[in-house]
Amino acid sequence: SQTMAAMLYPRGTGGCSEPSLPVAALPGQSAELTALFECPVCFDYVLPPILQCQAGHLVCNQCRQKLSCCPTCRGPLTPSIRNLAMEKVASNLPFPCKYASAGCLLSLHHSEKPEHEEVCEFRPYTCPCPGASCKWQGSLEAVMPHLMHAHKSITTLQGEDIVFLATDINLPGAVDWVMMQSCFGHHFMLVLEKQEKYEGHQQFFAIVLLIGTRKQAENFAYRLELNGNRRRLTWEATPRSIHDGVAAAIMNSDCLVFDTSIAHLFADNGNLGINVTISMC
Ligand SMILES: [Zn+2]
Ligand SMILES: [Zn+2]
Ligand SMILES: [Zn+2]
Ligand SMILES: [Zn+2]
Repeated sequence: SQTMAAMLYPRGTGGCSEPSLPVAALPGQSAELTALFECPVCFDYVLPPILQCQAGHLVCNQCRQKLSCCPTCRGPLTPSIRNLAMEKVASNLPFPCKYASAGCLLSLHHSEKPEHEEVCEFRPYTCPCPGASCKWQGSLEAVMPHLMHAHKSITTLQGEDIVFLATDINLPGAVDWVMMQSCFGHHFMLVLEKQEKYEGHQQFFAIVLLIGTRKQAENFAYRLELNGNRRRLTWEATPRSIHDGVAAAIMNSDCLVFDTSIAHLFADNGNLGINVTISMC
């Protein structure tokens, strides 16, 4: 059963801390046990803190918030009764990743599940266009066809060295500029966002995304450069996979960041040209 434990907890895949070992259950037995944790409403797992109805039925915490009575017996859900025994069992069981049906073979300690599922390579891709107005989801292979079909207005430039021209950068409010760059047999999405991360302080965030996996993105580097009026501002980094999106990068300023005064130093008639160079490494 040692080998089984190792199989259930592949190392170095997303979790940050050493996972605790599962109880010495055979895989079949632990599958039977995890089935006991299925929420009767959403079929996701009921994970700690585990609360039960007055009669002892379990429901997951997300569903619980939307329910006025127990979905199994219609009895009251309040006052909440905590089930410490089930919590203990849950803490000693590996739970399959949410994307198991898409092909993920990982099972994890419940505390590590959300973190893994954020970065799971089997998580569906969402539309990479900034602004979050498009709710599309699908496989990586379907992303480019989706962009060409649903976002026809995005221009594409060929070549590893191009100029991303953002027009009317003085437009008020939050604005996004997007274009595509094709080179090395891959498609890259260039994004410039103007937003107010801090009250009253407008900033520009520029970043390059690869329409590809995080692993594929590691083969490339990009450089963004503002250049003109005897000044130069450069940022170099690894492109981000569209699987990770831009929100976290902007939140952490892990991109080219500049304020409106800097934008004006480089802008010409309200238009800002950003030199974009992509290279293989
Ligand atoms: Zn549920
Ligand atoms: Zn009940
Ligand atoms: Zn997974
Ligand atoms: Zn879309």
